[in-house]
Amino acid sequence: MADFTLRRSRKLLSPAELPLLIQPGPIHPEWSEAAEAKAFTFIARVRDRQHVALRCNACGGINAVRINVLMGYNPHCHHCLGTARTTTAEVAGLRFLHRDPEDHKYAFYQMACGHKIRRQFGRIARISTGAGAARCETCLVHREEAEAARFGWERRGRDPKDNISYRLYRHHCGHEQRIAVANVRWGQCDCAGCGQSWTAKPSFIYLLDIRHAATKRHYLKLGYSSHPVKRHKHQLGLPKDAEVEVLRVVAMPTGHDACAMEKATHARLKRAHPEALVPHPEYADIMNVVSEVYRPEALSIFHDTLDRIEAEVTSAARTRNPDHLSTPPRTAVGNDPEARPNTPETPPPAASATQTPAPSQPHRKPRPTAAPWDRHPILRRHWGLTG
Ligand SMILES: [Zn+2]
Ligand SMILES: [Zn+2]
Ligand SMILES: [Zn+2]
Repeated sequence: MADFTLRRSRKLLSPAELPLLIQPGPIHPEWSEAAEAKAFTFIARVRDRQHVALRCNACGGINAVRINVLMGYNPHCHHCLGTARTTTAEVAGLRFLHRDPEDHKYAFYQMACGHKIRRQFGRIARISTGAGAARCETCLVHREEAEAARFGWERRGRDPKDNISYRLYRHHCGHEQRIAVANVRWGQCDCAGCGQSWTAKPSFIYLLDIRHAATKRHYLKLGYSSHPVKRHKHQLGLPKDAEVEVLRVVAMPTGHDACAMEKATHARLKRAHPEALVPHPEYADIMNVVSEVYRPEALSIFHDTLDRIEAEVTSAARTRNPDHLSTPPRTAVGNDPEARPNTPETPPPAASATQTPAPSQPHRKPRPTAAPWDRHPILRRHWGLTG
């Protein structure tokens, strides 16, 4: 019967891990002197004619060292090195797993998320001093997949042209194309296959995390916008040293839906969690909005609410119309709903109609004839739409 245990262990054990056998032969006094000079204590000749055992004066660990290394170089203590690697990894926020048997400069580490990464020792050492951070490729891929899915795209893989800012995506219409990751994150992706423009999906609900370290203030802001908000700091009138992070983006099928959902959320929060609302005078000096600013403690309430909105939107879209996202681009000329706020929902102009043969959508609900921009002046005063 084959002994797999033996075969496996023979492959995995390195010479440093083998049991040390005493090797007969003369012992030269200069070996002890060299060992002491290099912070080791000479113990015995071991393994073969070329090795001696040295005890590390720092940790007491035994190392088998080649005689020429002892005499001509500075021998390392493998035990101290192992401890240092573990500690360095811990400082860098990782767990040292094992060295890479293929490349002595690399090792495997476990991330806080549970995934395993392969990195150079030097890279981890730099991270432990605060230079950069270890990123998990697996989590990054999952995040990019989720970001793409929000806007009807599927992340297929790396950019076939090897641009690190791009990935290959497949639209729900089946068309595949390269898109910059940042554009997918913000939903700014026109499909060259079906002609759907990102502006055809006019609304997004945002949850922002706003911090002003200088005055130790930390707030949440829920809002919506007809297009991805990039200049939120400017639009909120925040000071330059304020930090704004987009915590969530929920894509809404129409501006009307976004407006209604956002208003309902504010009303519900005001009723059920009045303590979460920040009084206007408290932030009047750093923000140009007058209401709907919340305490960071309300974060989980917001996430629950947005989870529910997301689920409602998804199921409504699924039951109502599987191709609800394929609304013809209604702003194909300006490509910017803000440029012409009073434009009613006109059919796409001829120029884009050649590229976009009007798809027959018999199941689609008729949309309101009046533009939501007219019905909902709140859209215009909103921070997302004032730029
Ligand atoms: Zn040691
Ligand atoms: Zn991960
Ligand atoms: Zn498409």
